[in-house]
Amino acid sequence: MENALYAAVYVDVALDKPLDYAVPAHLIDQIRPGTRVKVLLQKRSCTGTVLHLKNYTDSKKTQPIQELFPDSIPSDLLQLGSWLAKYYCAPFFKVIKLLLPPPIRKGMEEKRQLFVQSLLSRPQLAEICTKHRGAQAKILEILLRHPQGILLTELLEKAGTSRSPITTLAEVKILSLEPIAIDRSILADHDFFQTKHKTLNNEQEEAFQKILKTINSGTFETHLLYGVTGSGKTEVYLQAIDRTLELGKSALFLVPEIALTSQTVERLRSRFQEKVAILHHRLSNGERRDTWQKIREGTFSLVVGPRSALFSPVKNLGLIVVDEEHDSAYKQTDDTPCYHARDVAVVRGKFSNAAVILGSATPSVESYANALSGKYILSQLTLRADHAHLPAVRLIDMRREFDKAKGFTLFSESLLEALKKRIEIGEQSLIFLNRRGFHTSASCGVCAHVLNCPHCSISLTFHKGKNILSCHLCNYELFPVPSQCQSCKAVDCFKFRGAGTEQVEQALHAIFPQIRTIRLDADTTRHKGSHDKLFKQFRAGKADVLIGTQMIAKGLHFPSVTLVGVLNADAALQIPDFRAAEHVFQLITQVSGRSGRSSLKGEVLLQTQLPEHPTIQHAARLDYPAFFREEIESRKMFNFPPTSHLVKITFTSKSSEAALKHAKEIRTLLISALPRDFELHPIIPCGYAKIKDHYRFQCLVKGETTRPITEILKPLPRNPHVHLLVDVDPLSTFF
Ligand code: ADP
Ligand code: ZN
Repeated sequence: MENALYAAVYVDVALDKPLDYAVPAHLIDQIRPGTRVKVLLQKRSCTGTVLHLKNYTDSKKTQPIQELFPDSIPSDLLQLGSWLAKYYCAPFFKVIKLLLPPPIRKGMEEKRQLFVQSLLSRPQLAEICTKHRGAQAKILEILLRHPQGILLTELLEKAGTSRSPITTLAEVKILSLEPIAIDRSILADHDFFQTKHKTLNNEQEEAFQKILKTINSGTFETHLLYGVTGSGKTEVYLQAIDRTLELGKSALFLVPEIALTSQTVERLRSRFQEKVAILHHRLSNGERRDTWQKIREGTFSLVVGPRSALFSPVKNLGLIVVDEEHDSAYKQTDDTPCYHARDVAVVRGKFSNAAVILGSATPSVESYANALSGKYILSQLTLRADHAHLPAVRLIDMRREFDKAKGFTLFSESLLEALKKRIEIGEQSLIFLNRRGFHTSASCGVCAHVLNCPHCSISLTFHKGKNILSCHLCNYELFPVPSQCQSCKAVDCFKFRGAGTEQVEQALHAIFPQIRTIRLDADTTRHKGSHDKLFKQFRAGKADVLIGTQMIAKGLHFPSVTLVGVLNADAALQIPDFRAAEHVFQLITQVSGRSGRSSLKGEVLLQTQLPEHPTIQHAARLDYPAFFREEIESRKMFNFPPTSHLVKITFTSKSSEAALKHAKEIRTLLISALPRDFELHPIIPCGYAKIKDHYRFQCLVKGETTRPITEILKPLPRNPHVHLLVDVDPLSTFF
């Protein structure tokens, strides 16, 4: 803008409105929306972001902008950020944290180091070399061996000298000493064997052609690729990305969790090699800064990462792929903005005129409804690629097994038989149980007092390996396990109940003494790279059975697995949440999908105490459309999403009374301010009513849209004693 005199700046502090600053004349040419600046706020130096430029201001006295930083937010991301702040009811400084990784936000600059180069030709250099002695000769010799030049630090180390002979040689113009930028971006890996396209089968080709049409036209459209597990969705993504890059555009590829999707990530890396930046949590600040910069410059044209990678500053965005779009890891739940990366991906696609592909074997009810209504373009892959077949699923009624065993038993007879057969013929099995630890609770046999976490409202889990009781919410540990009941003082009275993965492993060893097992859960994967190590060991045949929690349910491909045992498929159906059935269906289908992924025929045994439950029935038939038809009816009947929109407000405080009082005030305010057609649920304690000594209450508001709700909540002054978290379109209405 010409003659801009003022800039509206969002300062990176908890103040949710832009402030006007004067733009000094010498900065006018360089400043624009998205520029990062240094300004004074109440005499303190702060960083901030320019929102827009203007030639008037209402403030009486404006301070000048002090300094500009070299890195800025691209305009498409600034637009996305403004949308995000509004839709998710989040202060702008929180949104900035998503748009700019910390090293960029703090103005970290590129790393520069001194670089030494000869100023003479090689023959000249060789000649002078003979005329020098000692340290200088040594330096010239090294330079002869490094005709392109060498870093000063490296030269000093090789020559074993001080800096002075180098300075002397520079003074007499034999060599130059100049600072150069050091690239700390993640190294492009050339070690990968480059894979080629596969010839698509008919269903893949049909889906691909539809997607191609969008990509070629350079317009925004969202595709839902609903393809059964192993149907070749990834191959379709790869070819769509290839086309996007051919057009000179960039692509974003989101995965729920990098550590659990290493196979997909490897496939992307081997197909696209040096064009790929893989963003994971363990990048150093330097790596993160330089990678961000190279994404921005277009050196990396494909970015792969978890939900936060959606905010990468790619150049000329052409395609966004959200793999496993149903996965709850895409939703940020613990801090504002509580955004859903799948939904924001669609918005980013819209702002950037890019194609969006959402892919899943178990689409979220929302996405499938959008596809049926024509908002998204639906493609289906109904068959497994590569001559594999979907597994046969058998339901096992555990009530009968309990009768037979005259009490609780972890494994049905059929599952034990099936496992035995696999061990004999050398095929592999997966056992899925979504609880870690050995026993899930302990209570006094005399007075029934339960051993709960002193800081959270949850029972402690017994971990036999470490011989401790631990809280799965706050990691509190109780050691040694008490022998006396606090409540009735009885001794050696504790009864342990509920089985976790640790117990499954021990029980299997007791039944099959020769069995080789690998356990994969949060306890066995604490260290960096441990997921990958365990997956690789299992794939290499180092174990007969992989036992795990939901970590083993995600898109992994184990060709020798022909049996999947699901131990308690139905437990999560008891959770009073409108998405409980959807989660259970997804989990069963995903974990079942690990079986029979090669020419070997797969089998799934689904143990349940609710064999007649419709969700279990649909899951056993691997029939997503039938599940959807039934689920959407109940959502309509009770007016839950996608029929309506929800906003969940959570009130957290050290004082239960304060939290409840504040919740009541806010609810009263909403009642008076919202139109009648909004539905306000009563205030209830959250499913986890206390975490880390903080009491938690929630209030659910339901309406056709969320904007009127967030508009009331956004400007409210914060209560210093009660933390209020607004979750728009929450995944869970219970926890
Ligand atoms: P999904 O992503 O749907 O789970 P994948 O893309 O992982 O499925 O494909 C499953 C297996 O089928 C992989 O081993 C893949 O290499 C193979 N595959 C996919 N498409 C084809 C094809 N058109 N021809 C041959 N094999 C294929
Ligand atoms: Zn706890």
